[in-house]
Amino acid sequence: MEIVKKENYQGYETVLFATDKKTNFKAIIAVHSTVLGPALGGCRMWFYKSDEEALTDVLRLAEGMTYKNSAMGLNLGGGKAVIIGDPRTDKSSELFARFAEAVNALGGKYYTAEDVGITPQDMLEVSRHTPYVAGLPAKSGDPAPFTAFGVYMGMKAALEYVFGETSLKGKKVAVQGLGHVGMYLLEHLHQEGAELIVTDIFEDRVAEAIKRFNARFVKPEQIYDVEADIFAPCALGGILNENTIPRLKVKIVAGAANNQLAKLEDGKLLAERGIVYVPDFIINGGGVINVAEELNPEGYDQNRVKAKVATIYDKVKEVLTLSREQKITPQEAAIMYAKKRLLQRRA
Ligand code: NAD
Repeated sequence: MEIVKKENYQGYETVLFATDKKTNFKAIIAVHSTVLGPALGGCRMWFYKSDEEALTDVLRLAEGMTYKNSAMGLNLGGGKAVIIGDPRTDKSSELFARFAEAVNALGGKYYTAEDVGITPQDMLEVSRHTPYVAGLPAKSGDPAPFTAFGVYMGMKAALEYVFGETSLKGKKVAVQGLGHVGMYLLEHLHQEGAELIVTDIFEDRVAEAIKRFNARFVKPEQIYDVEADIFAPCALGGILNENTIPRLKVKIVAGAANNQLAKLEDGKLLAERGIVYVPDFIINGGGVINVAEELNPEGYDQNRVKAKVATIYDKVKEVLTLSREQKITPQEAAIMYAKKRLLQRRA
């Protein structure tokens, strides 16, 4: 296998390119920062159209992990990996053995975990060949319930910021995406008496939400037009953009999806419309807090995880207050908040 390691590459500590023609394996691992500790971030397998596209994605995601891990108070840096290939047809034991070899070549600077296109089973394969894996099924398990709990706590902080009270009783919440996180989130919201409007592209997911949570369904494209207190994006990224933002009739956007803003400037569009946006990498950090606990020398403890995830309430309040005081968008405030620990550690 050919491994090319580039140090100090475009502002990243290390970017590793791994290729093995025999197994048709191609991957890139980006370590953005290890200032706070070894980099932790998932591995994504996707049919990228080009190597450039894969590189752009891994660099963007790795930097995002530096901010997310820092903002969550973890002593972990930011990194990410991508395997170029079709996750439905190109997987093999050999391919994951090569990936583990690439991870080993970084000597513990990067810990991998599952992400889009990768299953817990795949990560088990990887863990046969490298110790630098987190988020295994038999250890911290599914991160989605913790992500959902963090989103719920973050929503309460945003409600307090906007309405002066944390209660979700009688509040209207429009949820986009009823997958792992979305469905757990509905459980919390329903339990507290929120009125729910939901959408998903899969009918069975919608049917379950209607049955279990008495939710009202709208077609996927209509979710942006729903009049509600909160819009909770829990599907894909890039959904807050110049086309959707003018349509929103909500006071708060608070959901689990990664990279919700299509561009940084879209944060300004939301602010101009008087909509409070809760930055995604602050509110959706519950999952990574759970995964990171596997690396805690004291061992994994679910109660400790829950207590840490609950602090997302304070983090959201702090970021929203910072944005008001500094007259900047919540996204800009969140980046400033995340960079604070990095700068302190460097000093
Ligand atoms: P998932 O794949 O289980 O669920 C996503 C759901 O969104 C699916 O049911 C899908 O059908 C639906 N969907 C896709 N496109 C849609 C559209 N246009 N309109 C309506 N519904 C649509 O994923 P998940 O694990 O629940 O994660 C949801 C989001 O949260 C993702 O953006 C993910 O990156 C982010 N996130 C997840 C975690 C976690 O712990 N799983 C942690 C942090 C961030």
